[in-house]
This record gives sequence, structure tokens and C-alpha cells, in this order.
Amino acid sequence: MFTERIYNFSAGPSMLPEEVLQKAASELLNYGGTGTSVMEMSHRSKNFLAIFEETKHLLKSVLNVPDSHEILFLQGGASMQFSMIPLNLIGKTGKADYAITGNFSKLAVKEGKRYGDIHIAADTEDENNTYIPRQGDLSLSSDASYFHYCANNTIYGTEWDYVPETGDVPIVSDMSSNILSKSIDVAKYGIIYAGAQKNMAPAGLTAVIIDKALIGQEMAHTPTMLSYKTQVEKDSMYNTPPTYNIYMLGLVLKWIKAKGGLAGMANYNAEKAKILYDYLDESALFKGCARPEARSLMNVTFVTGDPELDASFAKEAEARGLSNLKGHRNVGGMRASIYNAMPMEGLQTLVAFMKEFEAKHR
Ligand code: PMP
Repeated sequence: MFTERIYNFSAGPSMLPEEVLQKAASELLNYGGTGTSVMEMSHRSKNFLAIFEETKHLLKSVLNVPDSHEILFLQGGASMQFSMIPLNLIGKTGKADYAITGNFSKLAVKEGKRYGDIHIAADTEDENNTYIPRQGDLSLSSDASYFHYCANNTIYGTEWDYVPETGDVPIVSDMSSNILSKSIDVAKYGIIYAGAQKNMAPAGLTAVIIDKALIGQEMAHTPTMLSYKTQVEKDSMYNTPPTYNIYMLGLVLKWIKAKGGLAGMANYNAEKAKILYDYLDESALFKGCARPEARSLMNVTFVTGDPELDASFAKEAEARGLSNLKGHRNVGGMRASIYNAMPMEGLQTLVAFMKEFEAKHR
């Protein structure tokens, strides 16, 4: 039992900023004098439409989304995009290029294969996904309908530090675990998508940012709900959108703005990650898994080399309110997910505990 809030290092759903949760709690029963909760509002009501428009506008301004791109608020998670993307885009040439840098890009490939000819542009499984391919290592096809990559590999703790050059081939990027953590040049992408449950909002919302030029190329049998054209034409309201999550995203975006926008987030995230990586580099017990040049600022993976010791570390940490440090079931070891809402104190407390653990077990 904890009487205070813990440091939750979960990969997602993960921590939300405390100020955001407090604001949501204060408006839970009666939003802005409407006499109702946002959860109880019709998605077509004036009050909700104002929230919807404001959230969309906030995302556009915080992420600097150009007018060439449309913002969609969908459901089905990032996983549904694994199908929606090929259904809508692969018809152009019947082919697409995918880079495999972890579990989720592999799942995206699996879905893509159901709809067309998938060419693997790179695969980092040979080194247990501990690195990111360089531009020169990518085998790209000029006739691909798109190139897909996962910008941050949540399970392995690696992150692309560049946007690949693909010529005229549109880039599609899964940014589920690093969206809103730093500034990006949205104009370089055909599609950016993200499950919200890490850096945006509670689980249940999927944000998609799509170049309008890519809309309207879906295969004939594409379900209505899975057509970007439908979703754009109906402004994400073909059916009931995840209303409360959209409201929560709005609160998170206001919080990001107040913290200096994405430049502020990037600085804070770099400072936080440095605390842990610096310690991993000097520790005689703990070792970082990702190659230094591929390290993610969002998910930090590490091991002691002894699975039993890893397990007791995660267990003892849990009892101290340092929660969810056990690595993903596919890879073992430890993982600290340190998204935007993880405070600096969380990293300081974690490293202090790791030092204590190391002193005991060296
Ligand atoms: N892509 C990445 C990078 C992820 O981290 C996740 C979830 N952890 C997914 C895709 C799958 O997302 P969802 O659960 O929203 O379908």
C-alpha cells in the first residue's frame, strides 16, 4: 500500500503529469460549469466539439503540423495502424519497404504481408535489436508505395536519431513511444502514428497525422472504418471517437506548452536519461543493452547478467515505489520507461536505489 504516488516506469500505459490528473479530477463532475462530466457529453455537442477543436489545434501547434497534413483521433491502438497503413497505401505499387528494429516493426511487417509485397529494408535482429541501421545500410526500393519504420523501439530501448532519406517514397513512422518527446519535422513524413498511452493520454486513443496527398488510395475492400478517407472526411467522427481521451490529450498538450513546448521536453528528457545512462556506464553491476549511439531517451534497457539478480532487483525496487522495472517478457532484464511525465526525481531515486543495490551485490 502506498499513500503517496509512486514512480511508475511502465512502458505504457504510463505516468501522466500530476498537474494534468489534478486538473482532470477538479473538472471530473462538472466541466467548466456545464454541469456534466466530459465523459457524459455527446461527441456532437457544442461543448465537446469545442474540446475536440481545441485539442486538435493544440496538437497542430505543439508538434508544428503543416497545413499539408491532417490530424486524426482514432481507436484500435498503434496495432490497428499496422493494417490500416497497407490497406490504404500499398495499392499504389503493390510493394512497400519496412525496416525491422524490434518487436513492433516485425508485427507491422506481418500485417503488411497480408496486403502486398513487403521488402525488408533492414533487420537488426542479428544483434538482438541493440542498434539502429544507418542510412547506408537501408536497402530501399524506388517503387515502394511507402517506407515504414518504428522511430523508438519500446522493448529494446533503441531510437532512430535521424529521419531516413527515401527520395519520393513516403515515410510512415510508428512514433508510439517517442511522440511529443522532442521536435520533429512533420513535413518529412507521409504518416506519423502513435498509440496515446505513453506520451499523450490514457490508452484508447490513437493519433494519426497524415499527408493529405496520401488520402484516397485505399484498396476496394477496405472496411469503411479503416479508410483514412472516411476518417478525414468525417473529421474522426464517422463513429463515436474516444472523447475523454481527446480531452485528456488536450490537458497534456497544455502542460507541454507550459513546460516550454517540445524544446522544453527534449531538454528535460535528455537530462533525465543522462542520469541513468551515466550511471550504467560507470556501474560494475548493471550494463545498458542498447549500443550507446542507438540509446533511446524514452526506454532504458539494462541487465546485471544474472536473471535471478535482475528479478530480485525489480522486486525490491517495486517495494520502494519504483514500479514496473521488469523488462519485457521477450527480452528479460530491466527496462525503465521515462516518458515526458516521469519527473527528474524519479531518475534520481532510481539511480540512488541502483547504487545501493550494487553495493550489496557486487
Ligand atoms: N508500437 C510501439 C512502438 C509500441 O510501443 C506499442 C505498444 N507498446 C505498439 C506499437 C502497440 O500499440 P497498441 O497497444 O496501442 O496497439
